[in-house]
Amino acid sequence: MTLIKLVLLSWRSTVSSDEELLEVAGEYAMRHGEFGSRTTYRVGGTARVVVEIPSEAVLAELTPALRAASGPLFILGRGSNTLVADSGFDGIVLVLGSGFPAEMTIEAGSPARVTLPAHMSLPVAARQLADQGLVGFEWAVGVPGSVGGATRMNAGGHGSDMAAVVTSSRVWNLATGRVDEWLPHDLGFGYRQSAIGVNDIVLSTCLELQHGDADGAKQRLREIVAWRRAHQPGGSNAGSVFQNPESESAGALIERCGLKGLRRGSAFVSEKHANFIQVDDGGSADDVYSLMLHVAATVKEMTGITLRSEIRTVGKFKELT
Ligand SMILES: Cc1cc2nc3c(=O)[nH]c(=O)nc-3n(C[C@H](O)[C@H](O)[C@H](O)COP(=O)(O)OP(=O)(O)OC[C@H]3O[C@@H](n4cnc5c(N)ncnc54)[C@H](O)[C@@H]3O)c2cc1C
Repeated sequence: MTLIKLVLLSWRSTVSSDEELLEVAGEYAMRHGEFGSRTTYRVGGTARVVVEIPSEAVLAELTPALRAASGPLFILGRGSNTLVADSGFDGIVLVLGSGFPAEMTIEAGSPARVTLPAHMSLPVAARQLADQGLVGFEWAVGVPGSVGGATRMNAGGHGSDMAAVVTSSRVWNLATGRVDEWLPHDLGFGYRQSAIGVNDIVLSTCLELQHGDADGAKQRLREIVAWRRAHQPGGSNAGSVFQNPESESAGALIERCGLKGLRRGSAFVSEKHANFIQVDDGGSADDVYSLMLHVAATVKEMTGITLRSEIRTVGKFKELT
C-alpha cells in the first residue's frame, strides 16, 4: 500500500470516529473547540473536538463513542497547569460540566470526612472549609486549579499537599467504563504526580480534616494570599514551570543563572519569581515553550542540573531558535 493511501485511510478513520462522537454527544460536543483560551496562560490553539460532559449519566452513555474516537484524550480542569501549542491539539478534550455536583459534602465526625466534586475550585474549597472550622486545607487557597486537576497533580504548597489529606477518589476509566474508588495506595501520589492516567477522570475526592479554630484558619488564608501576592506575579501564567530539583529550588537556580526577566517573543521569565514564565496578552504558546527549553538548557549548561517540566504541555510546539 502506498504512503498516500495509508495517510488517507487513517484520515478517514479519524473523521468517521469523530462523526460518531459528535453525533452521540450532540450539543455537548464541538469540533475545533476552544482549548488554549480556557487555560490560565490564555494562549494556544483549539482541540479537534471538545466535549462538555454535563453529568455522570451522560459520561456513561458516551463511553463507547469516546473509546472509539481516535487520538489522545485530555481531561481539562481549570487549565492552570497546562500549556496548549499554538497549532492546537489533535485529540479529544473532556470538560466536566454544570450537571456534576458543585457543592462539597461534609460527614460529621472526628476527623470530618469531606467529599469535594472534581470541578470545584481549590481556593473556594479552602475558604469554605476554613469557614466550617476544618483545618489542614488552607494551603490550597493559593492554587487556582480544580479538585480533579489537583488530585492528578498532587498539588501542594506551604508545607502540605493533596497526598497529606486525601483518603480516596472516585475515578472513571475510559477503557473499563467503570467508576472505582481509588485509595491512597491506588492513587500513588509522588512529588507533583500520581498514578492517575490519561484515560482516568477524577469525579470526586475525599479528604479527612480535623476540627480546629475557624478564626485561626481564616487568618492563615489571609497570610497565604498575602504571601502569594508578594512573591508571585499576576498575569497569564501556569504557576511554577519546573519541578524543584532535590538540591535547590528551580526558581533559585534559574535566578542564579541570570535568567530573570529574559524574554523570547511574547514570553518572559518573571522578575518576581524566576520559576514563573509569563506571556503577554495575545501572545504565543510556542514562545513560552521555546523559553522553557532555553531556560532548561542554560541551567543544565551552567550547573549540570536537569530541570523537569511541572506544567503539562499539550500538542506539537514549534521549537523557535
Ligand atoms: C498562579 C498559579 C499558582 C500556582 N501555584 C501552585 C502551587 O502552589 N502548587 C501546585 O501544586 N500547583 C500550583 N499551580 C499549578 C496548578 O494550579 C495546579 O497544578 C492545579 O492542581 C491544576 O489544576 P487544574 O484543574 O487547573 O488542572 P489542569 O491544568 O486543567 O490539568 C492538569 C492535569 O490534570 C489533569 N486533570 C484535570 N482535571 C482532571 C480530572 N477531573 N481527572 C483527571 N485528570 C484531570 C489534566 O488532564 C492534566 O494532566 C499554580 C498555578 C497558577 C496559575
